[in-house]
Amino acid sequence: MPAEIRLFKCLSDNYGVLIHDSASGATAAIDAPEAAPVEAALRAAGWTLTDILVTHHHADHTGGIRALKDKHKCRVVAPAAEAARIPAVDQTVGEGDKVSVGRLAAHVLETPGHTLGHIAYWFHREEIVFVGDTLFSIGCGRVIEGTPEMMWDSLCKLRDLPEATKIYCGHEYTLANIKFAQTVEPDNKALAARAVQAKQQIEAGGFTIPVTIGEEKNENPFLHADIPEVAAGIGMAGKSAAQVFAEIRARKNRF
Ligand code: ZN
Ligand code: FE
Repeated sequence: MPAEIRLFKCLSDNYGVLIHDSASGATAAIDAPEAAPVEAALRAAGWTLTDILVTHHHADHTGGIRALKDKHKCRVVAPAAEAARIPAVDQTVGEGDKVSVGRLAAHVLETPGHTLGHIAYWFHREEIVFVGDTLFSIGCGRVIEGTPEMMWDSLCKLRDLPEATKIYCGHEYTLANIKFAQTVEPDNKALAARAVQAKQQIEAGGFTIPVTIGEEKNENPFLHADIPEVAAGIGMAGKSAAQVFAEIRARKNRF
């Protein structure tokens, strides 16, 4: 029985998401931007919150933890390196650790860059990865605490997951990301097709995620910093992938 997922909006542009194991009844929230939309999603599905899996310490990912913990007495799992900055943590995890949600199991991947302790949760049997603010559809998070090299390595780690893996990220930024991406890769046909699709999804009141690792590999310029043609296209021929990534990220910050 595959995992069931509920995806919903929180705050202004954050995503909330629940993953549910129907065999055991366990339900985890990935991050908790705010409590009310999580409660509403739980009620609508008829599920009880058993776990919160936190990707990083930023307030727009942790603001709902305290209220949810008080009400549901759920377990809060958080990156070891950021536990001191996250409320009500019960269990800390790092690279190579496994986290179970009922009979579902996630591998913890450390993906530093946006923050130094940022982690992703990869449910490999379900082919789902929760990436927080490391990877966005057609974009990536700002490099706030780490270095571009670190962020590039983290993105490569996610890029190496099986192509069918479905990505759930922390924010709905896809249309703005596409606008920028097309300045880096104006001739990318897969990206152009995604632009049409994403616009339709948003206009219909829907979401642009999940997307797969395979799709992002074709369409996301932040995952293309090691492609010589992309480097040459932005005047960075011969530079290292990390340097090319840093330049693309810097351009996005100014865009
Ligand atoms: Zn963040
Ligand atoms: Fe965020």
